[in-house]
Amino acid sequence: MTLNRRDLIQLASLIESRAEALREEIRREVARGREETYAAVAGPTPDAGDEALADLVADLDNAEVTRDLEELRALEAARRRIADGSYGVCTDCGGEIPLARLRAEPGAARCTECQARHEKTYRK
Ligand SMILES: [Zn+2]
Repeated sequence: MTLNRRDLIQLASLIESRAEALREEIRREVARGREETYAAVAGPTPDAGDEALADLVADLDNAEVTRDLEELRALEAARRRIADGSYGVCTDCGGEIPLARLRAEPGAARCTECQARHEKTYRK
């Protein structure tokens, strides 16, 4: 991989801040959904880890939150790839993911071509 240390640090911090923003957004959505759905029911509060968030989201059936959670998972996977040194390498073709693409979408696991193919195959 040709990402240098400075790029990696910058991308890691992009991942952190994006993940934090997503967690807040999800908590807000979950809180709103709970107010609407189970106004009087006391349940788990959305302050735990991402798995607990995922459980809450599963009950919510809210497309936007589901998307946020998917992005959050992608970011966490990206963080693991930074740790094991495979970040920036396309998981499909093994080619390099361009830095500009990583900056725009730090959770990207595929190069632009493979992502397009993937989306065509697994249309969401
Ligand atoms: Zn690729």
